[in-house]
Amino acid sequence: MTTLLISHPACLDHVTPPGHPERPDRLRAIDRALENEKFANLAREQAPMADIETVALAHPREYVEAIREAAPREGMVALDGDTSMSPGSLEAALRAVGGAVLAVDEVVGKKAANAFVATRPPGHHAESVRPMGFCLFNNVAVAARHAQKKHGLARVAIIDFDVHHGNGTQEIFWSDPTVMYCSTHQMPLYPGTGAKSERGDHDNIVNAPLRAGDGGEQFRAAMNEVILPRLEAFGPDLVIISSGFDAHIRDPLASLNFTEADFAWATKKLMELADRKAGGRVVSALEGGYDLQGLAGSVDAHVTALMRG
Ligand SMILES: [Zn+2]
Repeated sequence: MTTLLISHPACLDHVTPPGHPERPDRLRAIDRALENEKFANLAREQAPMADIETVALAHPREYVEAIREAAPREGMVALDGDTSMSPGSLEAALRAVGGAVLAVDEVVGKKAANAFVATRPPGHHAESVRPMGFCLFNNVAVAARHAQKKHGLARVAIIDFDVHHGNGTQEIFWSDPTVMYCSTHQMPLYPGTGAKSERGDHDNIVNAPLRAGDGGEQFRAAMNEVILPRLEAFGPDLVIISSGFDAHIRDPLASLNFTEADFAWATKKLMELADRKAGGRVVSALEGGYDLQGLAGSVDAHVTALMRG
């Protein structure tokens, strides 16, 4: 079994306003990085479009319909100050969900050792009934619920090392003791949530905020001392990574100083945990990362680690 890469060219057709950091070139940079011959052994699949019932695992059906109806036939429509839709956005968003769901199917079905889903728009800011922060549907939340409903997995852990707190994922699973959400993120920073005191109704939310200027040392300490012990005790049947790479030192949207080596380290630690607790099952889905060079290098390091390189 090998690592599976899931993407789709339609994810390039989600067009954002000029100068917007969450832009199609992000995926082009990732594509170029993963064309390197060291990734020749990756299995590659195209992300299917999720159907409404699947998206509705994490969002009310009316919300899914509202997003569908908001999609413009031409031009762009703003859903909030950061989040917009173009004519290609709905298909891209449904493929971002569908890719994460396919990744779960292939990893749980033992067709792949683990998987990385390179799609956009990202998802972790999308709350159950609110698009937010470049996100329309919460891709990892749907994937977690799908793993439980379709495959009967009892406990799912979502680890989010995007520089921004995944307020949407936290909101969706706040009262769900079967899903543990763990996040490192810069604080204070958008979206403003993610304090240590936010722990969920069942102590199933683990926030380990970092401060502007923090780097790999503080990240590794937060993982080693806060997040990994909680994951170990939780004992997930599946590990899902909200893999945002905007904590990279080059990233223009925030002020953490992670390097490629830090992302590789975290990936390996989560794989070790999954090997012990979750039958090795790891699904990683792209969130942020806005400096193209930092993003490409970080994805290279992350996927290399997934391939046990
Ligand atoms: Zn982010």
